Amino acid sequence: MAKQGQTRNPYNLCSWLPVSECKNCTIAGRLKCRYNSGDLLHFIGLFLFFLFPALIGMILSGCGWYLLGWVGLAIIFFGFWEIRILCSHCPYYAEKGVTLHCIANYGCPKFWKYHPEPISNSEKIQLVIGFTLICGYPFPFLILGEQFSLFLLTAWGLIMFFWILQKYTCSKCVNFSCLLNRVSKEVVDEYLKRNSVMRKAWEENGWQIGGATSRK
Ligand code: SF4
Ligand code: SF4
Repeated sequence: MAKQGQTRNPYNLCSWLPVSECKNCTIAGRLKCRYNSGDLLHFIGLFLFFLFPALIGMILSGCGWYLLGWVGLAIIFFGFWEIRILCSHCPYYAEKGVTLHCIANYGCPKFWKYHPEPISNSEKIQLVIGFTLICGYPFPFLILGEQFSLFLLTAWGLIMFFWILQKYTCSKCVNFSCLLNRVSKEVVDEYLKRNSVMRKAWEENGWQIGGATSRK
């Protein structure tokens, strides 16, 4: 690969190389491997389907002050916790800089170092706990406030969020060891072949290029 700006791309990951390096890539188009603002807007738009009815329902329930608890939880989760257990393993995180430039958590601070190895089982369990807390937070308030229509709308928004995310984003996401990731092993192998830092870390954790390794 051509020499690139080491200042921006200290791990020499192809996702942060100039786009001209993608010319002969056999998996081009099969991954969301380069930052794209359209992908970011798609993610934000999807999340709003869940967020809006939840916000309105909590306010109509007379529990508006409890939104502060949700905001605090979100700051801890997205600012410190999720970013360590999920994002610090993602190629998007490997870019040099103090904030994340990616197709979902754009703008979050990067307090941790990049971890090219796969996400551990303990981190996966923590992720499930974190998602449950963040996504489940508004529902008890909607029940207490008897906002049953908004409860259903919020639940529907959440289901649609994960369903559409799985179909259009997780099937192409470069954070391959995430629990939700659905990229095929063949494509993961090709990406690892192009990214030696990740490949080494994954092979040290038992991954075999071309082998039958499962990432789950
Ligand atoms: S996998 Fe790497 S080289 Fe291939 S299209 Fe994506 S960023 Fe470019
Ligand atoms: S895991 Fe998702 S949210 Fe985190 S850096 Fe990667 S693309 Fe962004």
